[in-house]
Amino acid sequence: MARKYMYFLNEEREKLSVLEKLVPALLIFFLLFTTFVFNQIIAKQHSVVAVEQDCDYLWTIQENYLEEQRIKLQKELEAAQKKRYVDLTNEDFDKMQHIYSHKDEKIVFLTFDDGPTSNITPQVLDILKAYDVKATFFVLGKQVVRNPDLIRREYNEGHSIESHTYSHSYKTVYASKESFFDEFNRTQTSLQECLGVDGFRTLVVRMPGGTVGGPYHNIKKEISSELRSKGIASLDWNCLTKDAEGADTYEAIMNNVYTYTGNKTSVVLLMHDADTKQITADTLPKVIEYYRDNGYKFVTVEDYLGRV
Ligand SMILES: [Zn+2]
Repeated sequence: MARKYMYFLNEEREKLSVLEKLVPALLIFFLLFTTFVFNQIIAKQHSVVAVEQDCDYLWTIQENYLEEQRIKLQKELEAAQKKRYVDLTNEDFDKMQHIYSHKDEKIVFLTFDDGPTSNITPQVLDILKAYDVKATFFVLGKQVVRNPDLIRREYNEGHSIESHTYSHSYKTVYASKESFFDEFNRTQTSLQECLGVDGFRTLVVRMPGGTVGGPYHNIKKEISSELRSKGIASLDWNCLTKDAEGADTYEAIMNNVYTYTGNKTSVVLLMHDADTKQITADTLPKVIEYYRDNGYKFVTVEDYLGRV
């Protein structure tokens, strides 16, 4: 009996001794494990904070860069606008005087008078856009106030906008020199109000009916001699489709284009975007193709004066 008891005691002692060795080992393992887990959590939190800080930093750099670019572009635009509307120089007036004898390359000015109108001008603009061609619009002040959106579209699509007086009524426009310049100024004011572009001004006028001839020849002559002193150039045309003089078929328009163009190296083509000139919009693609296929470069008045 005593032997059996002793055996049992020894066995229990052995178990206890194993436990005594195991508990510290487990404790050490537990401590190491919790330290490891804790470190992982801290490291993860740090990395999240670091990434957030990096993102903030990059975002700030990007915002600063965009702001710098915006200011730079704004300054470039303002400088270009200032340059675009400075007074015509003597050299500019000489260039305008010799516009028809330009021989360096074949150039054509597509010019549209009497607009903008809500039915024809959008068609003309769509066609010019499709062919990637710029034109010059000699606008009437009274049409500007009726169709300001079209003026903005002409401007935003890179066309030149110049003056063709306010009313186009010969009786009023040519009543006196004062009346003519009043019409010019009113048109300019309408354009400035419509566009809201700092410094915008028209530099070239197309006198209704042209600078010479007709019953108002004498007053036109007086006006012409005063234009330059007011910093305004005038431009007539040396080629016309006769869309304002009864040409109302495709053949008639194109025949006029061929005949009046002849072998000119500088063509100022007169057309109209008045509200009755559907034929002008209908034939415009063929007119553009004719000049394009014959090696002409399309230029606006502002291109020609180096203003854009
Ligand atoms: Zn006209």
